[in-house]
Amino acid sequence: MNPNSGILILGDQLSWHHPVLSGADPAEVVIILAEVAEEATYVRHNRHKIALIFSAMRHFAQALEARGFNVQYYRFNDDVPSLLGACQRARDTWSLAALHVCEPGEYRLVEQMTSWEQALGITVTLHEDSRFLASRADFSHWAEGRKQLRMEYFYRDMRKRYRLLMEGDQPEGGKWNYDADNRQGWRGQTDIPQRPNPVLDAVTQEVIAEVAVAFPDNPGDLATFRWAVTAEDAEKELAWFCEHALPRFGTYQDALAEASPWLFHGLISMYLNIGLLEPLSVCERVEAAYRRGHCSLAAAEGFIRQVLGWREYVRGLYWLHMPDYGKRNALSANRSLPDWFWTGETQMRCLSRALKQSLDLGYAHHIQRLMVIGNFALLAGLDVEAVCDWYLAVYLDAFEWVELPNTLGMALFADGGIMASKPYAASGKYIQKQGDHCRACPYDPKQVTGDRACPYNSLYWHFIDRHSDTLSQNPRMGLIMGGWKKRAASDRDAVVHWGEQMLQRLASL
Ligand SMILES: Cc1cc2nc3c(=O)[nH]c(=O)nc-3n(C[C@H](O)[C@H](O)[C@H](O)COP(=O)(O)OP(=O)(O)OC[C@H]3O[C@@H](n4cnc5c(N)ncnc54)[C@H](O)[C@@H]3O)c2cc1C
Ligand code: SF4
Repeated sequence: MNPNSGILILGDQLSWHHPVLSGADPAEVVIILAEVAEEATYVRHNRHKIALIFSAMRHFAQALEARGFNVQYYRFNDDVPSLLGACQRARDTWSLAALHVCEPGEYRLVEQMTSWEQALGITVTLHEDSRFLASRADFSHWAEGRKQLRMEYFYRDMRKRYRLLMEGDQPEGGKWNYDADNRQGWRGQTDIPQRPNPVLDAVTQEVIAEVAVAFPDNPGDLATFRWAVTAEDAEKELAWFCEHALPRFGTYQDALAEASPWLFHGLISMYLNIGLLEPLSVCERVEAAYRRGHCSLAAAEGFIRQVLGWREYVRGLYWLHMPDYGKRNALSANRSLPDWFWTGETQMRCLSRALKQSLDLGYAHHIQRLMVIGNFALLAGLDVEAVCDWYLAVYLDAFEWVELPNTLGMALFADGGIMASKPYAASGKYIQKQGDHCRACPYDPKQVTGDRACPYNSLYWHFIDRHSDTLSQNPRMGLIMGGWKKRAASDRDAVVHWGEQMLQRLASL
């Protein structure tokens, strides 16, 4: 490496496995870290997310200095407008002749960086992000010639490649997937373990105070900030999960509970996504818990499938299909987001709980994101771009490579079926089965029309009816479409009419 080299480390690349940092000589490089307005404001990010990233960056800078690196750190209050601006300043301060960057996780930034060499007048090298278990080339190779890119087949190849939960060439226990064992609804069957909160040190407290002042109108209740900001603390969170929650993770993976926003979930996506945890070691920890008899195979397999399968698969899809992917809107969904998406003030209990929790804590678990909020947006035909921006803003683990395929593809079916073989559309019956929200709701999940009827019900059939031409071509929708068409025309009309009423009254539901 050139002695006058800079390494720009982005806020989601805080890892010793960073492809340039891992081989760098501290005497030869300057590390640049910058809290910049452009990145902090391109959507209305949750304050938890901004505080998490800034604090983790400041802690990482300290760790770098402790290992002898020169660190050029720009704080948000230093008024550096953009990443390019930060690199320009660092170039001048340190007389840099070369800049090295690990490829960003968002297409938007990669595109910006193509003009940096010219703008900076020094060599700029983008390095492949080696922190994922399938490289972009691996995924393209896997996708080549396949008519459908189903996660399940990708996941099986990844299990074989990384030899996770394998018995020779066969999957542990004889089956690849134990999802069928992992679908119990929540009826308060067992105690939910109390999660200890990480201790917030002076650095984090200072960041929280700064974020409160700089972002007064963004979502996020900073009084509830409870996130790890160093690799060591993220490891402790993972260890707590493996010990106390993993054994029940599988069983209640799809459950919805009044009592807890976390249930038995990992709460680790934010750490994985910003580099504080490594995906392979997370999977190995979970496999080890299974091997020592601490959890069932269904729990371990269910968890490993999320990290080794889904997480890598959505990233592969993102890079395979960008930039066009972000513009897709296969079901022409264009309705404005009701204002209560930003307050959670709706009478629909399940939705209100999921929205408030997302806004206040920056977190909701998968079924809340997919089957409560996403399902509602799908059924109501909410504008795809606005919904995607909402998800990108609200969750503290949201980066476009993972947020976009999940929202646009999985939740909204706006990619026309690249990601999901059928829309994840469901009526109130599903939400009632999976949790205990309906008991506290003024709406009745058994009614389809009328003032007390659960809005998910008529909106579900309205969705089925208005997209019947498209959905009838989907073999996995055959039974539902057939059943709908067999119903008496007067019955269908009444349900669709009520669904239309719900759409008109969206603002006051
Ligand atoms: C509409 C929608 C938007 C989403 N947006 C994001 C996002 O912006 N960032 C994000 O990291 N995840 C996103 N997810 C996936 C998933 O909901 C979160 O990763 C998970 O809820 C994070 O909480 P956890 O760590 O407690 O997860 P757990 O339930 O404990 O799962 C373990 C880990 O598996 C991985 N994982 C599970 N499902 C997925 C998935 N579908 N895609 C990618 N990784 C997965 C995560 O790293 C997660 O930490 C989204 C899902 C949906 C349906
Ligand atoms: S009745 Fe409908 S809106 Fe109310 S909690 Fe149940 S599913 Fe949600």
